[in-house]
Amino acid sequence: MDFDLDEETRLFRDSVRKWTDQECPKHWCRALERREHQFPTELWAKITAAGFSGLGIGEEYGGLGGDILTQVIFMREFARNAAGLGWIWGITAFSGTRALSLHGSEEQKRRFLPEIAAGRLRTAISFTEPGGGTDVLGAMKTRAEKVDGGWIINGEKTWSTTADTADCLLLMARTDRNVAKRSDGVSIFFVPRLSKGLTTVPLDKLGMRALNSCSVNLDNVFVPDDLLLGQAGQAWKETTKTLNSERVMNAAMCLGMLDGVLEDALAYMQQRRAFGKLIGEFQALQHYVANMAMWQKQSELMLHHTAWLQVRGRPCAQEAAMTKTLVSEYACKAADLGISILGGMGYSAETDMQRYWRDARVLMIGPVSNEMARNMIAEGLGLPRSF
Ligand SMILES: Cc1cc2nc3c(=O)[nH]c(=O)nc-3n(C[C@H](O)[C@H](O)[C@H](O)COP(=O)(O)OP(=O)(O)OC[C@H]3O[C@@H](n4cnc5c(N)ncnc54)[C@H](O)[C@@H]3O)c2cc1C
Repeated sequence: MDFDLDEETRLFRDSVRKWTDQECPKHWCRALERREHQFPTELWAKITAAGFSGLGIGEEYGGLGGDILTQVIFMREFARNAAGLGWIWGITAFSGTRALSLHGSEEQKRRFLPEIAAGRLRTAISFTEPGGGTDVLGAMKTRAEKVDGGWIINGEKTWSTTADTADCLLLMARTDRNVAKRSDGVSIFFVPRLSKGLTTVPLDKLGMRALNSCSVNLDNVFVPDDLLLGQAGQAWKETTKTLNSERVMNAAMCLGMLDGVLEDALAYMQQRRAFGKLIGEFQALQHYVANMAMWQKQSELMLHHTAWLQVRGRPCAQEAAMTKTLVSEYACKAADLGISILGGMGYSAETDMQRYWRDARVLMIGPVSNEMARNMIAEGLGLPRSF
């Protein structure tokens, strides 16, 4: 058994950490996030200039290469400062790079992956509908009807993050209603945002405020055949494989936030005084950071193990659900305690605890809610499916 990262991965981690501190310091990310409804173009430009938009993309398609573990390492280090803005990279890494790599045709890969690697193409995920995100198949009303040369899509999506600024939406729609199982007859399209009939409206929300989550309306949107991803009607089975990597990537973002929380809490405890002492001398607060350190260690072990399974192509649905659930809860609890440690300053928009707390909170709800993830874990233990 070997718990060490190999030399190359360690060097990569250190270089990402250095880049993040130099190029994306916390105070800068905090200011970007406060600019509600304004996509942080500057942040994307830095990611692109450093070549990180090509992570996970093979060199033959103009990328940097790297597997899911490399992506996890990047996301963790980046989110330590960027917090939820880390998803600016994660969305395309999952819905563009990963989805195309797994399900795209060779022609689609050659057409889109080099564009993603060069930072010229960003993607968003449009799965959730107003009728519900947990029972995504039950709630799905969006339909794609086959026509000559392509498909006509009608429907509405909600909470699609960065849908208003992305170039393409990875969009799920029902293509066949006459199916025995509702998981059949569902397809995924790579829909250009500027398609005629597609409109987006940003929603107000608690965290990740610079990355708009949008409702997306599709009114007779034509999508050509070559933008269907994978086989028509088979998207659900194909997507479930991709969802594991989305869960792993979200857990990496949460662990990055947990790192940031612990680091800021320790720094504050070593400079703030009360009752003639440093607050770091108080046992109650020491217990708070001791808890955070235990959650951090547990999270790292689970995350690396799940990524390790995925790199080897081994089943990891249970592990991905467990990791996503546990790490999102640890990140939220840590940020909550971090607010207490900083006292009034923890609630202030001048520090980052509130930002970590707001950004981590949503990851207990999505991309799969922690209640639903627990349902899946229990089913994996041999209990009857509860949903
Ligand atoms: C900020 C933000 C960004 C998002 N970004 C995206 C995005 O980019 N693309 C996208 O497609 N979606 C996105 N989502 C949607 C997200 O995936 C959904 O919010 C999530 O799946 C939950 O769906 P829901 O909000 O409709 O809750 P509901 O499905 O209505 O669930 C409500 C509550 O009921 C619980 N529940 C439901 N069914 C069960 C069950 N069987 N057992 C136990 N509990 C159950 C849920 O856990 C939850 O607590 C985003 C959401 C937010 C808030």
